[in-house]
Amino acid sequence: MVTATLPKQQVKIGPTQLLINNEWVESASGRRFETINPSTGEVICDVAEADAPDVDKAVQAARTAFNQGEWRRMSARHRGELLYKLADLMEQHKEELARLETLDNGKPLTDSLNIDLPFAIACYRYYAGWADKIQGKTIPINGPYFCYTRHEPIGVVGQIIPWNFPLLMQAWKLAPALAAGNTVILKTAEQTPLSALRVGELMIAAGFPPGVVNILSGYGPTAGAAISRHMDIDKVAFTGSTEVGHLIMEAAAKSNLKRISLELGGKSPNIVFADADMDAAIAGAHNALFFNQGQCCNAGSRLFVEEKCYDEFVARSVEQAKQRIVGDPFDPHTQQGPQVDKEQFDKIMGYIEAGQREGAHMLCGGDRVGDRGFFIEPTVFAHVRNEMKIAQEEIFGPVMSIIKFKDIDEAIHLANTTMYGLAAGVWTKDITKAHAIANNVRAGTVWVNCYHVFDTAAPFGGFKQSGIGRELGEYCLEHYTEVKTVTIQL
Ligand code: NAP
Ligand code: MG
Repeated sequence: MVTATLPKQQVKIGPTQLLINNEWVESASGRRFETINPSTGEVICDVAEADAPDVDKAVQAARTAFNQGEWRRMSARHRGELLYKLADLMEQHKEELARLETLDNGKPLTDSLNIDLPFAIACYRYYAGWADKIQGKTIPINGPYFCYTRHEPIGVVGQIIPWNFPLLMQAWKLAPALAAGNTVILKTAEQTPLSALRVGELMIAAGFPPGVVNILSGYGPTAGAAISRHMDIDKVAFTGSTEVGHLIMEAAAKSNLKRISLELGGKSPNIVFADADMDAAIAGAHNALFFNQGQCCNAGSRLFVEEKCYDEFVARSVEQAKQRIVGDPFDPHTQQGPQVDKEQFDKIMGYIEAGQREGAHMLCGGDRVGDRGFFIEPTVFAHVRNEMKIAQEEIFGPVMSIIKFKDIDEAIHLANTTMYGLAAGVWTKDITKAHAIANNVRAGTVWVNCYHVFDTAAPFGGFKQSGIGRELGEYCLEHYTEVKTVTIQL
C-alpha cells in the first residue's frame, strides 16, 4: 500500500435545505445535521433534517403534481426532453458535481469523474429515450370486444438511497420513475446528502414542474420510516442493506400495501478456475473487491480459487493489494480513498478482527492508514472457509477473502451457500465451465471473464435476500408502472 496526499481542495457546496415543491425550505423542526468529510473527519457543512412532517409536506406536493399539475398534462415526449436537459446540465457541471461527490463520500475524484458522473448522465439519457416508448398491447380476447392495456405511472413514489454511489443511485431511481410519469420523494443517505441537492437545483433549472421531484436529507429511522409507512405513497424503491429491506417490506405490508422494489446486500462469489488467464483474473478479482473502497453491494467478496492455482493466486493478489495507492481522494494517483464514516470504519475493523479470530490467514493490511479520516489498508485473508463470518456477512470494505475449491461442483455448491444472490463472476477459458456457472449460480448478474461491467440498458438486481425487482434497462420500467386493462364492447 502506498499513500498519497494533497493540500486541501476548494469545492463548491450547493443548497443545504430541503427541496419541496421546487422551493428550498428548512425542516418543520428547524433541525439540521452535519455532513462529514471522511478524508479528515471534519464537518463540511450542515443540512436541513427532514422528519415525518416534512415527508407529509413533500407527499402533498408530489400528490398534487401527480393528480392535477402540469406534469400530468405534459406529453411523454416532453418528459423525456426534461430528462435530456437535466443530463446536459449535469454534463456541463460534471467537474463540480464530481468534486462535491468526492468531498462528501471520499471516493477518488478520478472515479467520480470517470465512472459515477458519466454513468449517472447516461442513465438519465437512456430513460429520457424511454419516456415516449412506454406502451401497452392490444389483446385479441374472446367475444365482440376491443381489449388493450395501458402502462400507467404508479403515482407518488418514495425512493430511499444509500451513500456508496450517491449520484448514481439518485439517477438509477429518478430516471425511470420520471420517464414513466411518476412523482417522487427522494431521501438521500445521511452520510452523503450534498450531491443530490445540487442535482435538485439543476432539475429546477431544467424545467421540472413543482412537486415532481422532492429531495429530503434525513435519517432512516425517522424520515425513511415515515416514507415507507406513508398511506399516500404508492410505491417505495429502496437500495440499502438487507436488514433495512426487511423493515421497508414490513412497513409496506402494515400500511397501504404500497409496491416495493428492493436492491439489497450481497456476498457475491467470484470463481477463478486454474485454466483462466491468470493476469486478467488477478487484476479482475482485485478490482471486483477493492473498487470504491470495497463499498459495493456487488463486490466480489467471496473469492473462490481452484486448488491447483491457489498458492500462486494468493501470493500475486497480496502483491497487488500492497501496490494499491491509498490516500487523498483528490490526488489523481489515488486508487482508494477513505471509508465513508466512522461507523463503517469501525465495522470493517471489527470484521478484520473476526477473520483473525476465526483462523483465516491475514497476509497484508489490517490497519488504519494515517491518524485522521477513515482510511483502511487493503487487506487480504487466505485460507478462509465459506462458513466464517467474513465469508458470510457483508463487510463493505477493502477486505479480500480467498477460499479454496476442488472442482466445479464444489464451487457451485459453495457459491450458492449464502442468503444473498446479487452477482457472481467466473474466470475460465473453458466455455462449458463458464456456462455451468452462469446457469447454476443463483444470482441476478453473472460476469464471465470480467466484473463490475454495468450498463444502463442491462438489468441489475438480486435473487434471494439480495432484493426484489430489477433496476436499469427495460425491466426496471415494470416497477414504475401499473398495467391497466381496458375492454370495449364493439
Ligand atoms: P442502509 O443502512 O440500509 O441505508 C440505506 C438507506 O436506508 C439510507 O438512506 C438509510 O438512511 C435508510 N434507512 C435506514 N434505516 C431505515 C428505516 N428504518 N426505514 C427506512 N429507511 C431507512 O444501507 P447503507 O449502509 O447506507 O448502504 C450499504 C448497503 O446498501 C449494503 O448492504 C449494500 O449492499 C446495499 N446496496 C445495495 C445495492 C444494490 O443495488 N443491491 C446498491 C448499493 C448498496 P440513513 O443512512 O440516512 O440513516
Ligand atoms: Mg459526508
